[in-house]
Amino acid sequence: MESKGSLQAALSALSEYDPNSMPVDQARLFIRKFLATPGEQESIALNEALRRTLAEDILSPMNVPPHDYSAMDGYAVRHADVASAPCRLKLIGSAFAGRPFAGQIAAGECVRIMTGALIPVGCDCVIMQEDVKADGATVEITKAHRPGENIRLTGEDIAKDSVVLARGQVIRPAEMGLLASLGFSRIPVYPKLKVALLSTGDELQQPGSALEPGRIYDSNRFTLMGLLEELGVELIDLGTIRDDRANLRAALLDAAGRADAIISSGGVSVGEADFVKQLLDEIGEVVFWKIAMKPGKPLAYGKIGNSHFFGLPGNPVAVMVTFLQFVRDALRVLMGQQPQPPMEFQAVSTSRIRKAPGRMEFQRGILGRNENNELVVRTTGEQGSGILSSMSKANCFIILPATQGNVEAGSVVQVQPFNHA
Ligand code: AMP
Ligand code: MG
Repeated sequence: MESKGSLQAALSALSEYDPNSMPVDQARLFIRKFLATPGEQESIALNEALRRTLAEDILSPMNVPPHDYSAMDGYAVRHADVASAPCRLKLIGSAFAGRPFAGQIAAGECVRIMTGALIPVGCDCVIMQEDVKADGATVEITKAHRPGENIRLTGEDIAKDSVVLARGQVIRPAEMGLLASLGFSRIPVYPKLKVALLSTGDELQQPGSALEPGRIYDSNRFTLMGLLEELGVELIDLGTIRDDRANLRAALLDAAGRADAIISSGGVSVGEADFVKQLLDEIGEVVFWKIAMKPGKPLAYGKIGNSHFFGLPGNPVAVMVTFLQFVRDALRVLMGQQPQPPMEFQAVSTSRIRKAPGRMEFQRGILGRNENNELVVRTTGEQGSGILSSMSKANCFIILPATQGNVEAGSVVQVQPFNHA
């Protein structure tokens, strides 16, 4: 966002925009308009690359495999010799992985070969050892074979100079191994995204001391810490901020000065929002929405200086739901990634699910298999937006569209898995 006012200008360009009932998809798309890929990059060691994002396409410096290899333990032959099987070939040597056969093969000869060994010059077929009768000096081939059988060809997996990994790819364990297999020890990545995190609320207390009357522990900051850590950002923990104008203002300005994104929880619901809204209007440009979803109705998005601001609701479940539905992918874009929509599929609900038509709901579910090995889902039970144990029990959201009413047991519902552990 270049200047103050562009957020409002973008909003007024939306047709049928209602800040008091913002559809989930529209909010997502709107936020996306203000997000850009980082402009810088750095080179880092491969062993520190987990969860980082590639800033350039990676071209393969070599063919993989670099030579023709055997995919089996068996016998390397000239296909012309075995075209009229059954036949008997003379065994003239062996080839092991890392120890190739150095000789020449002539008509009627074969070479004992192990998986991963170079194919001897002149051979174009590997016959599995289970398919032959060998006596130490000769090998009897009993049936016909195809040319090229059991040979991994040069460049079959990756061709030299082809794009192996594209810019924007997150480095996961498979990518670390893949890059190592191509000989890379350093890779170009985007800088780590700096994310400032704070909780707001006079009622909040730090875990580690006995709870005082009328107070609750600040759990949101820890939930968000976990979610952010999984993404691989650089976390700036600003702690718990009291509902005090001067404090909050100082904390937000401090955050905007050193973070690419700021995530707060609490203080955006009706009643509290006015004071926060006023403050944010002074120091940045932020819009407040009531998202047409449950839980997670209030959400604020905007910019303070060059920092993206995400104001999440205070309710612990709503925090997780809004983070997962809006913030995570937004941060991924800021990290240089191209997030794909989360995986969703259908499953039969084994429980009756209570739901009133009106808002889209992200209920918590437990996805598993029934005795027929079919995917089934059941509710975690009570769905109050303060019941954080429901998120701990759940491994998926049961996504119920706005118009949906109660769901009877045995009905098909849409699920979005979120936990793999
Ligand atoms: P608020 O949006 O600030 O009105 O908060 C809504 C509800 O979430 C209230 O019951 C708060 O006490 C609770 N809440 C707000 N922040 C946190 C937090 N950091 N950890 C746990 N609960 C919170
Ligand atoms: Mg509050």
